[in-house]
Amino acid sequence: MSALPMTSSSGDFPTDRHGWAELLPERQASLPLRGAHRVAWAVIGAGVTGLACARRLADLHPDREIMLLDARLVGQGASGRNSGFAVAVSHFGGGFEADRLESYRRVNRINQAGLDLLRAQVAESAIDCQWCEEGFLHTAADRLAIRECSHFLRYLEAMEIAHTPLDAQALSARLGTALYQAGVHVHQGALLQPAALVRGLADNLPANVRLHERSPVLRIEKGAPLTLKLPNGDVQTDKLVLAVNHEAAKLGFLRRYLIGSTLSGSFTRALNDEEVASLGCLKEWGLLSLHHGGATVRLTADRRMSLRNAAEYHGGALLSDKLLARRQSIHRAAFEKRFPNLAHVPFEYAWSGVEGISRNSTNFFGRQGDNIFLAGGYNGSGVSRGTAFGTALADYAGGAHSPLIDDCLASAPGAWIPPRPFLDIGAFFTVRSRFRGVGLDR
Ligand SMILES: Cc1cc2nc3c(=O)[nH]c(=O)nc-3n(C[C@H](O)[C@H](O)[C@H](O)COP(=O)(O)OP(=O)(O)OC[C@H]3O[C@@H](n4cnc5c(N)ncnc54)[C@H](O)[C@@H]3O)c2cc1C
Repeated sequence: MSALPMTSSSGDFPTDRHGWAELLPERQASLPLRGAHRVAWAVIGAGVTGLACARRLADLHPDREIMLLDARLVGQGASGRNSGFAVAVSHFGGGFEADRLESYRRVNRINQAGLDLLRAQVAESAIDCQWCEEGFLHTAADRLAIRECSHFLRYLEAMEIAHTPLDAQALSARLGTALYQAGVHVHQGALLQPAALVRGLADNLPANVRLHERSPVLRIEKGAPLTLKLPNGDVQTDKLVLAVNHEAAKLGFLRRYLIGSTLSGSFTRALNDEEVASLGCLKEWGLLSLHHGGATVRLTADRRMSLRNAAEYHGGALLSDKLLARRQSIHRAAFEKRFPNLAHVPFEYAWSGVEGISRNSTNFFGRQGDNIFLAGGYNGSGVSRGTAFGTALADYAGGAHSPLIDDCLASAPGAWIPPRPFLDIGAFFTVRSRFRGVGLDR
């Protein structure tokens, strides 16, 4: 196992050097905010949601300055630490329910809108983020996942979504592992390097967006204008967008509705020609398990294998170096089970990241107070959806109407989450329950 570098912490907004950003060259960050500022619009959070929102606000208000603030460096939030699947088609899990057809369609319309926006932005700014739009494989190794595969196929057929069912032999020929017994290739969806995507988006914002990294908003004072308090300055703003994911509670929002679940995974070193040749015919792929607790596995464009199969409730925090090192043994076992012929290939990096989850798997979109708007909480599927939510929120906050806004507003209200210590106990068991029956798919 590789040595893991130190974790660093900045007050309530800790970060570390275990992410996809560490696989990229150094980048010049924007300066932290200092002094007093007055703007018409401020956005807190520069993940996919906040970046999309700030971009859209800048287009809608070309004569205004849009202030975009992030507590960390761009790429250190979930948007730079995810597995890099920008989905068009959501997998809902369980038997297909004909009376939920419109709800399935609504979510997929949002996903598709986000994917289209991302594709356009990546192309327009020539963002080098390993964008590969050939869809994903959804796979099953054990009994529950195999059963889920037939549910998923029924859903794809009923929704008329382009796909190709695959048996064990076809999967082995593509991936170079004999583990999977059933699966399906869904043709839509893009794979990407998440940290490269958000860095590229941040470095190509419209000229009237002013980004400040390492600029945590510690407090929001209500009034007109609203006042944002930061360690070395403050910002007065007429309208405010919160794109802070599970950390909304730190600013006093969604306290009982959104929590953070910590996921972790590992990367191998880059594979050599011989090792790549020992795999299947696909040279780059992404695989999502049909069991909710199963491993997400990728062969990236730069020939690394990445595998994420651990999730836990950890109070919404990243894993410490020590815990991350321990989790690597879980990642390792899953990797060698799939690719025994690559057992000699070491892991070079491990990473953790925190996703925002609600009790009833809903998303949050809309008004949270006078001139305060919020989007977030995508339950592990926010790359394309967050982009759509962020864009639609900019329109909504300006009083516009659109079918995309209607789709976002139709998200179910969040279910109440009890306070501590019940929260800790409940969240612990909820996160654990995702692994029930996972078997070989972990
Ligand atoms: C390991 C992992 C794998 C995942 N895999 C996928 C995947 O493959 N596909 C997919 O679609 N989704 C995936 N997700 C989920 C996806 O990453 C998130 O849903 C999405 O990135 C959320 O984007 P966001 O912009 O809303 O939040 P974030 O990316 O979390 O951004 C919020 C930002 O707000 C900043 N912030 C918070 N509070 C403050 C404050 N007070 N002041 C200033 N700044 C603040 C944070 O620093 C952060 O940068 C995964 C998540 C994880 C953790």
